[in-house]
Amino acid sequence: MINIVGAGVVGLSVAWALVQRGQVVRLFDAQKPGFGASFGNSGSLSSSSVVPLATPGAALSGVKMLLDSNAPLVLRRRYLLRALPWLRQFVRVSDETTVNQVAGSLLEILGETLPAWQRVLRDIGAQDLIRHTGQLHVYASRQSLAADGFAWRLREAHGVRGERLDRDGLLAHQPGLGEHYTAGMFLPDCAAITDPHGLCQRLADALARAGATFIEAPVQALRPDGAIEAAGQVWPARACVVAAGAWSMRLLAPLGVRIPLETQRGYHVQRHRHEVAPGEVLRGPVVTADSKAFIVPMREGVRIGGTVEFAGLQAAPAPARFALLRASFARVFPQAPAADGQADESTWMGHRPCLPDTLPVLGPLPGLPALWAAFGHGHLGLTMSAVTGDWLARALCGDAPPSLQRFGAGRATLGASLTTADNLPLQQTGAPP
Ligand SMILES: Cc1cc2nc3c(=O)[nH]c(=O)nc-3n(C[C@H](O)[C@H](O)[C@H](O)COP(=O)(O)OP(=O)(O)OC[C@H]3O[C@@H](n4cnc5c(N)ncnc54)[C@H](O)[C@@H]3O)c2cc1C
Repeated sequence: MINIVGAGVVGLSVAWALVQRGQVVRLFDAQKPGFGASFGNSGSLSSSSVVPLATPGAALSGVKMLLDSNAPLVLRRRYLLRALPWLRQFVRVSDETTVNQVAGSLLEILGETLPAWQRVLRDIGAQDLIRHTGQLHVYASRQSLAADGFAWRLREAHGVRGERLDRDGLLAHQPGLGEHYTAGMFLPDCAAITDPHGLCQRLADALARAGATFIEAPVQALRPDGAIEAAGQVWPARACVVAAGAWSMRLLAPLGVRIPLETQRGYHVQRHRHEVAPGEVLRGPVVTADSKAFIVPMREGVRIGGTVEFAGLQAAPAPARFALLRASFARVFPQAPAADGQADESTWMGHRPCLPDTLPVLGPLPGLPALWAAFGHGHLGLTMSAVTGDWLARALCGDAPPSLQRFGAGRATLGASLTTADNLPLQQTGAPP
């Protein structure tokens, strides 16, 4: 028996991969499956996203944005002291050498992303949910595209294919684009999930059919031997995978684990109609370089997702963030029919679980070999979860892929700079006792 805390896309993917290997799993979530960050994400399988959030210059542009309430990045003043240690580590891992190492680690997962998802979708009978759309990144000018040169060079150096576009090229990919956008890049190798919450439900249904047990209750405490305290009883297991997203450290901190996990709150506005211009629908995800919004075709309409807000796990959503997303959409598609109140639109806010270096923590926790981490996937949790599941299931069955070592809590590749756990040693990734 293996316990899994969290039935978001990561926990479900780990559970599915374990069940495929003949393991018996029990999933715990305070809610029904897929109602955390996995509910409202932008659905992109961003297999070309090797660029970490912390890059040379990101700290400076981040500070500028923090001073501008209309910027896509915001920090609520009351939260500044809480966020400072994390932000300090973010700056520390933004040097070019570290960024190159992180990009290499990301590539290990991203290179396997699409085949891994295709396998999972085939096995659970959900191939209808994936579209091979590519990803269109739009810029206001050639100069602003050139200003992003570091990121595009890094992608190129890691084998990411991209097509440089002028205004005509943009329009050929997406008719109806506002005239504000005159340059861009098309990434042909990205795909998209048209219903992220539906994907979680399909995974959960497949798991239930395969004999997995779901316990709908908050986990109160973890025990070092892999047992869980929930719903008034203790649930023993040979190992416990912590996939509780942005809440994971709430469960691990009492056991002395110190990993810098922070929520980057993201928002979406979902339009319940497909037109983006007269007679035109959205052909694939459009990503705006200025406002960092993802405008994505979903089964039920067009979703505008994005923005990063540092405000912790408790604060209520800020209505101004939704207004920013609506403004981004209006700039990209000025001829789109106006949304007509609540019937035409819904809104949502969720918690991206983020580490300063962009990489998730995967594998057994130092000094706690029965407790395994599967959290911190940040902006790429949907993208990375099928591979996460595969790697962790293999490792829990004693067949750890070598790449997993790069994602250990000790982060040997990054030296002492990342973890607040005082340069913990890299753990063996063999099966727990
Ligand atoms: C606006 C936005 C857009 C995004 N777009 C994309 C995208 O296009 N592509 C992409 O790859 N990623 C995207 N992401 C990121 C992605 O959504 C997340 O990385 C991913 O959903 C994280 O999955 P998870 O399973 O780790 O966490 P979650 O989905 O948050 O699941 C964690 C679960 O743990 C449960 N839990 C927590 N504590 C406890 C407890 N004590 N007891 C029981 N259960 C508990 C919660 O209820 C929750 O269900 C986006 C995120 C946001 C916010």
